Amino acid sequence: MSFAALGLKASLVRIAADRGFETPTPIQEAAIPAILQGHDVLGLAQTGSGKTAAFALPVLHHLLNERQGPSRRLRVLVLVPTRELAMQVGEVMRDLAHDLPGGIKTVVAFGGVSINPQMMSLRGGADIVVATPGRLLDLIDHNALSLTSVGALVLDEADRLLDMGFADELSQILEMLPAQRQNLFFSATFPEDVQELAHTLLQDPVLIEVPDAPEHAPDITQRAIEVDADKRAQLLKTLIKQDQWSRVLVFAATKYGTELVAHKLHRAGIHSAAFHGDLSQGARKQVLDAFKAGELQVVVATDVAARGIHIADLPVVVNFDLPRAPADYIHRIGRTGRAGASGLAVSFVTPQAESHFRLIENRQGQRVPREQIPGFEPTDTAPVDEQGEPTGPKGLDPNGGIKGKRKSKKDKLREAAARDAAHDAANRGGRP
Ligand code: AMP
Repeated sequence: MSFAALGLKASLVRIAADRGFETPTPIQEAAIPAILQGHDVLGLAQTGSGKTAAFALPVLHHLLNERQGPSRRLRVLVLVPTRELAMQVGEVMRDLAHDLPGGIKTVVAFGGVSINPQMMSLRGGADIVVATPGRLLDLIDHNALSLTSVGALVLDEADRLLDMGFADELSQILEMLPAQRQNLFFSATFPEDVQELAHTLLQDPVLIEVPDAPEHAPDITQRAIEVDADKRAQLLKTLIKQDQWSRVLVFAATKYGTELVAHKLHRAGIHSAAFHGDLSQGARKQVLDAFKAGELQVVVATDVAARGIHIADLPVVVNFDLPRAPADYIHRIGRTGRAGASGLAVSFVTPQAESHFRLIENRQGQRVPREQIPGFEPTDTAPVDEQGEPTGPKGLDPNGGIKGKRKSKKDKLREAAARDAAHDAANRGGRP
């Protein structure tokens, strides 16, 4: 099958070829014709499947067909969970649209940075907006854009949108969209809450589940090593040296954790650096460049920061701390085994985190056999229930805990807002 056979305009086929895309990936082969025909699509696809181009190419095809007058109207809205994905998808859109006639304009918007430049870039309109849900609502509040002309909605990584607590924002946004539109829904995993969202959103969708074709399924070996929390750094040093891991991305739960682990490795003579959001842009770039150049053997990162790391050749990923959200596990291990290379994903499972790791296994529908390394056998006893089953972390979890156990920043903000409102109401009540 070729891109030309999928029904795309010749200009888009050429652009794909220029990018080195010769044959469509399975999700592209199934999604592109369905989207071109105007169907809603439910795509269950992992990172690395080529899903961005699977929706970007046909969406651009539609835009070319409906060239507008001089004023631009927002036609395509892509919602994504994170700033990194927003930048990544925006980049793909701009890159693919670059040589197309008419000048298709893509604006990328995400929170955590000043809203003003994003408002400026929306002046004069945009054809495509790629945004995180919270910032999109802020921009709408500021009258920087309106959703009334949107013809296609893309939810990318829908499972993570929900994991990151965007359900309320999503429903607000959906209310503002025209009823008549095409919906393209992509998710790596398909738990109940994601199914519900897909059900409310999609009309007679074409279901595309990417088959685990050997040529496309990443070849990732998963290992789960049981170890006490306080022995993990020592175990990591031992494994890196013993197994001669050349380039390792280690995930830790906190910024402090990344610093601590990197420091311990460094003291053991392993070139390592921490990578997290508190580092300046310049410092981050330095670390990345050194990692790519092979001058750094290990980078210890938080989940959020790691999304900015794009390295094709990454043979080993280590979960020093397990991710809080099970969906993040799939994203983390998907960092290795790219471009046909085989990869190794190692998780350190402390007795306290055993039950959380089972949740992760359930989510990915795959068990990972537990191993112990001589000299590092766990001695901590995990809390157990009446049946002798581990009960999992209870607040003080060295692995960062289960999502939902602690108040999120958003919960805290909401509580503060509620307190303020109550305070204001009390004050108003007190006035004559
Ligand atoms: P994605 O799953 O969208 O993040 O894409 C994963 C990677 O595959 C990206 O680096 C794309 O540039 C690349 N890619 C997408 N489609 C193709 C294709 N048909 N042939 C070769 N590479 C592709």
